[in-house]
Amino acid sequence: MTLNPAPNSFRTGPDERGRFGIFGGRFVAETLMPLILDLEKAYADAKADPSFKADMESYGTHYIGRPSPLYYAERLTEHLRAQAPAGQGAKIFFKREELNHTGSHKVNNVLGQILLARRMGKPRIIAETGAGQHGVATATLCARFGLKCVVYMGAVDVERQAPNVFRMKMLGAEVIPVQSGTRTLKDAMNEALRDWVTNVSDTFYCIGTVAGPHPYPAMVRDFQSVIGIETKQQMLEMEGRLPDSLIACIGGGSNAMGLFHPFLDDREVEIYGVEAAGHGVQSGLHAASLTGGRPGVLHGNRTFLLMNEDGQIADAHSISAGLDYPGIGPEHAWLHEMGRVTYLSATDTETLEAFKLCSMLEGIIPALEPAHALAKVAELAPTKPAEHLMVLNLSGRGDKDIPQVAQIFGQTL
Ligand SMILES: *Cc1c(COP(=O)(O)O)cnc(C)c1O
Repeated sequence: MTLNPAPNSFRTGPDERGRFGIFGGRFVAETLMPLILDLEKAYADAKADPSFKADMESYGTHYIGRPSPLYYAERLTEHLRAQAPAGQGAKIFFKREELNHTGSHKVNNVLGQILLARRMGKPRIIAETGAGQHGVATATLCARFGLKCVVYMGAVDVERQAPNVFRMKMLGAEVIPVQSGTRTLKDAMNEALRDWVTNVSDTFYCIGTVAGPHPYPAMVRDFQSVIGIETKQQMLEMEGRLPDSLIACIGGGSNAMGLFHPFLDDREVEIYGVEAAGHGVQSGLHAASLTGGRPGVLHGNRTFLLMNEDGQIADAHSISAGLDYPGIGPEHAWLHEMGRVTYLSATDTETLEAFKLCSMLEGIIPALEPAHALAKVAELAPTKPAEHLMVLNLSGRGDKDIPQVAQIFGQTL
C-alpha cells in the first residue's frame, strides 16, 4: 500500500464522500442511497442542535450512568512492575465502560442513534448483532422509548448466545435468526441492510460499530467519543497531564475509536489497538483484519478484510464472539496506513491468562473482548518507565462470558 502524506490533523476525516484516505465511502445499492443521504442530513442537523446534545447528556447521566470512572489499577500495576527491570512498569488505569447500563460501551452509541431515530420520526428500529451485546443495548433503549425493535442474528450465534437472546425477548424485541452464509454476524448485517431497503419509510437501521456506509463510521465514533473526552478530563484531574498511552480491543473498532479520537492530535500519546489473533495469525483461525487481511469492500465501505484467494469473505475466529467480525472500521484502516495507531493482536490463550489476572488482582471480571487488550498491557507495561501513564478501555464486563470460560477451564456450572 502507498502511504499517504502525514496530515496536519488526524481528526478531520472523513471527507464529504465519507472517505478516510482510500478507505470508507458508501458502496451501496442505488435504492439505499436516498436513505443514507437522509440519515446524513438528519445527523448533521442533530449535531448542530443544542437540545440533542442536552438529551445525550441527560440520558447518559441518568440512564447509562456516565461518566464512567477512570480507575487506577494498583495491584495489576504492582504485579507487572515486579516483573519489570528496576524503575520500569507503567502506571495502569482502566476506563470503566463495563459499569454502564447493559454492561458495555455499546449503549453510548445506541443512545445516540435511538435519539436520532426519534427526531426522524422512525418508529421501527432494526439492528444486527453477533454476541448479542449490541442487540441487548438496542432492545433496551427501544423498550425505554416504546419503539418496535427487530434484531437480526446469525442462527449459529442464536444458539451460542442463548442468554442474550432471552434478554432481548424479555425487553420486547423480535430476534430473527439468519440462515444465510456462515449464519454469523456478517450475514446478520447483510440481512439488516436488506430489511432497510424494503422498509424505507418507517425504519431506522442502528449499526453497532464504526462500520457500514458513511455516515455510520463517523457517527458511531462521535457517539463513542464521550469515552475519550471523559478520559482526558479525568486524567488531567488525577495526574495533571495527559496519559502516555491508550490501548483498546478491536472488533469493528467502536470502543477503540471512542477512546482514541479525542487524542489523535496529541502526538506524544502512543495509541495501540488490539485485534483478536485467535489460534494465531499464521493459523488462519483469527479475526485480525489489519494484521492478517487485505483491502476490499464489505457492508458499504472499503477497509481491510479477511478474504480467501478468490476475494470471498473468510470466516473470522475468536474466543470472543464480540471480536468475531471479518472486517474493521475504515478509520482504523486509515490510521494504520498513516502509522498514527499501532495495531497488535492477542491470541485466545494470552487472552484467557489476562482474564484470570484481572479477575484475581483487581476484583473485576472483564469481558473476553477487553481481555485481549489486557494481554497486551501485560506485555507493554513492563517495557515502559514507572512514570508512564497507560489507559486501558475496559469495554465490558465478563458476566456474559462466564459459561464459556467455565467450560474452557473444565468446570461445570
Ligand atoms: C462488541 C464489543 C466489542 C467489540 O466491538 P468494537 O466495535 O470493536 O468496540 C468490544 N468489547 C465489548 C465488551 C463488546 O461488547
